[in-house]
Amino acid sequence: MFETLSDRLDKVFAGLRGKGRLTDADIDATAREIRIALLEADVALPVVRAFINSIKERARGAEVSGALNPAQQVIKIVNEELIAILGGETRRIRLAKQSPTVIMLAGLQGSGKTTLAGKLGRWLKEQGHTPLLVAADLQRPNAVNQLSIVAGQAGVDVFAPEPGNGIGDPIRVAADSIEHARRTMHDVVVVDTAGRLGIDAEMMAQAAGIRDAVQPDETLFVVDAMIGQDAVTTAEAFRDGVGFSGVVLTKLDGDARGGAALSVRYVTGQPIMFASTGEKLTDFDVFHPERMASRILG
Ligand code: GDP
Repeated sequence: MFETLSDRLDKVFAGLRGKGRLTDADIDATAREIRIALLEADVALPVVRAFINSIKERARGAEVSGALNPAQQVIKIVNEELIAILGGETRRIRLAKQSPTVIMLAGLQGSGKTTLAGKLGRWLKEQGHTPLLVAADLQRPNAVNQLSIVAGQAGVDVFAPEPGNGIGDPIRVAADSIEHARRTMHDVVVVDTAGRLGIDAEMMAQAAGIRDAVQPDETLFVVDAMIGQDAVTTAEAFRDGVGFSGVVLTKLDGDARGGAALSVRYVTGQPIMFASTGEKLTDFDVFHPERMASRILG
């Protein structure tokens, strides 16, 4: 991932090597190059603008320091600004004061919600929790089955409507799952919800209904990083339709450009909390802005 952006930035920095000090013209030229690199990486325009403005301002104000040459100084500034745009610090899950903590997953169909439920289940279990995965995606015929399979792989319990009872009401299932978790001493409930291929009023209304029924402590917006700029419009639609407290980027393994990763925090104001990098349950980690920034800078 990020190959093109890394290569591009590398070339920009290479052009600065050997310079004794940076003139305003050097800074402008460098900023222009970085701007092109970000646009090519499919980063959203408002994010590019904010990023470039900070870089320019800081590069102009930078003290000529004995320890760093101009190229190193620019790399340091770009690194710090990348970390800032990616959210600064890692944001951890907020646990409820009273169990169970409720985590709701929302996002388009195919974004990786059901897979993520399994990954989160496995991860939570590793952290010493006893998670319960809830199948409130009753839109896709196979979704309940798929959730049971990933729960089995993760070695965690699942709450699903009884087979043979017709489609059932996802809001009811979600609400019942909280009661069930209390009775069965599960301390974290992960609610998988239905998505559609595109943004859809009925889907948003259902997700909002589930949200009202379960009162989540965290609502995670799950987004496929490979959709690039569309991640921003989708995020805005979910922010307005359901609201969310954190973002999970999936399919980062296939995201050669990095635009979604760099845009979504800035545009939504909500932190990227987890990253998915493959189909296996272990292809998953807490999101670390500083690690991602050093990956981009290579
Ligand atoms: P849902 O419709 O949102 O529940 O999405 P699914 O969990 O069913 O995922 C859709 C497809 O994406 C499945 O084939 C998953 O195996 C795949 N998938 C999910 N997460 C990742 C990931 O991080 N990387 C890759 N390469 N594939 C993923």
